Amino acid sequence: MTDSDIPEDAPRCSHCGEPFPTERLRALHRGLEHPDSLDDAERAAFEDAYRGEGDDIRSFRLRALAALVALYFGFLMTYAVVAV
Ligand SMILES: [Zn+2]
Repeated sequence: MTDSDIPEDAPRCSHCGEPFPTERLRALHRGLEHPDSLDDAERAAFEDAYRGEGDDIRSFRLRALAALVALYFGFLMTYAVVAV
């Protein structure tokens, strides 16, 4: 991504000026990179974003596990049909 790809109105970190595609990513960045200089609203936004990220990761893990199980049984059934 080059500087020309970043829209002018992208949310920017109020501490280091780095641009982010979404408010949620900016809140996560501020909580992880500038934890000692957050005000109450920024800290609340970080905690909400952090909790939301945990839910997304849990959902991704379940979907990845389901895909692996489906792939495993797909190969197993293919082997059973081809090898016998
Ligand atoms: Zn920053």
